[in-house]
Order: sequence, then C-alpha cells, then structure tokens
Amino acid sequence: MAASKSKNPQVLFVTPEIYPLIKTGGLADISGSLPATLRELGTEIRVLVPGYPKVLAGAKNKRLRHVFHGLPEAAEVRLLSASLPGSGVPLLIIECPTLYQRDGSPYQDHSGADWPDNDRRFSLLSRVAAILGSDASPLAFHPDIVHCNDWQSGLVPALLHFAPGKKAATVMTIHNLAFQGIFPPKSFNQVGLPPESFSIEGVEYYGNFSFLKAGLYYADHITTVSPTYAREIQQEPLGFGMQGLLAKRHASLTGVVNGIDMDDWNPAADPRLAKPYDAGHMAGKAANKRALQEKMGLAIDPDIPLLGMISRITHQKGGDLLLEIAPQLLQEPVQIVLLGTGDATLENGFRQLADTHPGSVGAMIGFDEGLSHLIEAGADMFLMPSRFEPCGLNQMYSQRYGTPPIVHATGGLADTVEDGVSGFVFDQETTTEFHRCIQRALAAYRDKKTWRQILRNGMKRDFSWTKSAEEYMALYETILNK
Ligand code: ADP
Repeated sequence: MAASKSKNPQVLFVTPEIYPLIKTGGLADISGSLPATLRELGTEIRVLVPGYPKVLAGAKNKRLRHVFHGLPEAAEVRLLSASLPGSGVPLLIIECPTLYQRDGSPYQDHSGADWPDNDRRFSLLSRVAAILGSDASPLAFHPDIVHCNDWQSGLVPALLHFAPGKKAATVMTIHNLAFQGIFPPKSFNQVGLPPESFSIEGVEYYGNFSFLKAGLYYADHITTVSPTYAREIQQEPLGFGMQGLLAKRHASLTGVVNGIDMDDWNPAADPRLAKPYDAGHMAGKAANKRALQEKMGLAIDPDIPLLGMISRITHQKGGDLLLEIAPQLLQEPVQIVLLGTGDATLENGFRQLADTHPGSVGAMIGFDEGLSHLIEAGADMFLMPSRFEPCGLNQMYSQRYGTPPIVHATGGLADTVEDGVSGFVFDQETTTEFHRCIQRALAAYRDKKTWRQILRNGMKRDFSWTKSAEEYMALYETILNK
C-alpha cells in the first residue's frame, strides 16, 4: 500500500455522477457532499469523474495533468484537475470525447436506451482510477484508498487486485444493488483481466460479466448506505442474485447511513423557496404551500392536506401503489403533487390521474431541481412507498422541511424515520397498509398540537454528514491497519 505522508489516509473517490455538475439520483448528492465533509475532517481527497459535457462546462480551474496513450478503451485520454463549484473539492476529470461527449444522461440516450458502449465508458472510469491507485500513477497524489461507488467503478478492485507493485486498498460502496452493470462475455475480453477471473470466484455472473460483482468480489471492504440495507442484501429478494457472495463477505460489509447537505437543503436559507422558514417561524411554509398549489394548478387552500412525491418513477419507488390507491384517497379532501420521470406506463398513469382530478392532482413529468425543493417545502406530507430503498434522501429532506414522510419500513427508510415521532412508517408493502398509514398521518394532521410536535421533531434532527464521514474515516483506518 502507498505510504501516506499525512495522518489521515489519502482517498480517491470514484463516481459516475456528482452534484451540482451532473445528477440522475442520490449518488450525485452523496458524491457532492461526502467528499467535502471528509475533506473538512482532514482527509486529502480527489474525486474522479467522467468528463461529460456538463462536467467540463461547470468544473472550475481546469488544468491538463496527463495524457494517457493506448489504453484499451480509447487511443488518447486526457486527465484534468479541477475543482467542484461550491465546496471547491478537488476533481480529476477524464476527458475522452469519443466516450463522454454526448447529450443525454450519463447512462442513457434521450430515448431512455442505455448507451451501447457503457461497458467501455465505465471500464475507462475504472481503468483510470486503478492506474491512479497503483505504482503506475502519473500524479504526485498517491491514494491509500480508492473508494468506488456502484457498478460504474466496480472494475477498480479487480484491476488493482491483478496490478503489480504497490497499490491502494479498495472500498466498494453499493448505492443500489438493483443496478449491476452486466455485460456479455465479449466485454470481458476487452478489459484485459486474467481469463481465470471470469469464473464464479471472480467477475462472472450467470455466464455474463458483472462490473458490480467484480467490485464486490475483489474489494478489501464493502459498504452500503444503511445498516438495514446491509442486512437485507444478504438474502433474497433484495440480494438480487448477489446475496450468496454478500453473506459470505458479511465480515467485510458495513452499512453507513448517508447524510444530507444541510446547507443546500435548509428551509431557512433556500433560494428556491417562495419564502424561507424554520421551526420557530412556520408562516413561510404556508407561503410555499400556496406557491406550490399555484405552480401545479391546484386549488388554493391552506388547510387541505397536500401530499408530495419526488422520485424516479419505477417499480422500486412504488409509484404504482400510489396510482392504485389514489382514486379512493381522493374521495377525501387531499391534494397530490408528483415530480418524476421513469417508466412510461407509470408516467402516463400520473398524467391521467392529474387530468381526471384537475385542481386536486398535479403531475410534473421531468427532472426539476428547483421544483423538488418547493415540493419539500410546500407539501404537508411526503410519500415514499419504496419496495426497497438502500438509503433514500427525500425522507431526510422532508423531515428537515417539516414535511413528515410516509415510508415503507425498508433499508434507510427504516433507519431514518421514527414512526409517530417525525414521520409515519408501514411494514408491509401493500396498498392497504400504505393507505392505512396515510390515514394515520391525515388523522395526526387534523390534530394541530400533535402535528406541530411531529414537525418540530423532524426539523430539529441532525442529518449532517459529519457522523457518517467519521464512520468512513474510521473504516479507512481499520482497512489500512489490516
Ligand atoms: P435514488 O438515488 O434511488 O433515485 P434517492 O432518494 O437516494 O433515490 O435520491 C434521489 C434524489 O434525486 C433526491 O435528491 C431527489 O430529490 C432527486 N430527484 C429524483 N427525481 C427527481 C426529479 N424528477 N426532479 C428533481 N429531483 C429529483
């Protein structure tokens, strides 16, 4: 392992997305805030990201550091140093126009189809990370730990395992085990790992090549984003085929719950709100409710309970459950606001629901960071009926914004919401239980004193990154001392 000059380990954090440059989901938020907190606590850290157009356009202080020639993925690859707007966290950006310079999301084109060369695109991310974590690095920065996130960086532990010489230790963090980066065997041939690694004791997954399995198999340590999810993924059904491997590696598997960016998500100073507020001055929340009702074409009514939901609209997030109970739910005075994109059938379901309930249901199909903040502030309750949720962020944003979340007891939702204290929790993933839980929340809402207490309990909770970042630092130490 590389020798560290400073007391704390030096860390290379590898991620396919990072807020505020490029975001499709929670991993971007985490990549934008965990490294910043680790740095504040004294860790010397660099974040490695692909040079998508938005990353190149938004990163500050870009400087060319190195040109790689003849990597298996591309003839010429440039490595830039830069800094993240806002926190100033040092970035390393992989500039490779043939692989990253395209419109669309990091993973898919505009039609929602995966980029056909995702194997090559993220093999390059992993390759550069592995070079930087090894003796062959062209930089003066020599990480002790390469911290990988999700399948897109899953090849790093495998590449480093087979690399000669001194090398960094690896941590593989699972943000969502449902995404595994599975490719046909011919992708394996292009990566240059030894043929014997294409086996059940290695990167092979039911005849295919899995980037995530490569990470889970070869990493020195595995983490995931909540203790409950760490337990759930060691069994069916949430192990998604990896439960055997994860159960075998349980001694090297830790759940560390995510924090949130308490500055970006602060109702007292959020520029995206109609009016700021805090637990002592809740009038601003009513102004945001009104602004949200106006924006979404809902009837203006300060008293009617307004239920919000923001998510990728997929089976995982349980939007179908809301669609199923909505007609019944809407027989009572409630309003529903949804913001999301995803599954076309479910998207249409929400459009139709809004069309058939004008003034009571608003559906915005799309990705809108500003509106997501207004929903957190303007809604009275927040819905997260996820079938599984490794950690989840919105339930924490909701508590901070005085918008009690209604959540299924799974993964990080179970770990961060206390039933009847700062939110509402249901155990079984059924429409009946979900509906019953909403009814409980509506009953509490009608009792002003109880409701105020629930809001206050949530708003005063500390979801900052400090505690989690300290856990990661302790973990890095333990790994390096092994
Ligand atoms: P996941 O990463 O599984 O999508 P998380 O709850 O961990 O779920 O994080 C989702 C993040 O993405 C949150 O910050 C959420 O507010 C945001 N988000 C999801 N969908 C949208 C959308 N359509 N518009 C704006 N923000 C969204």
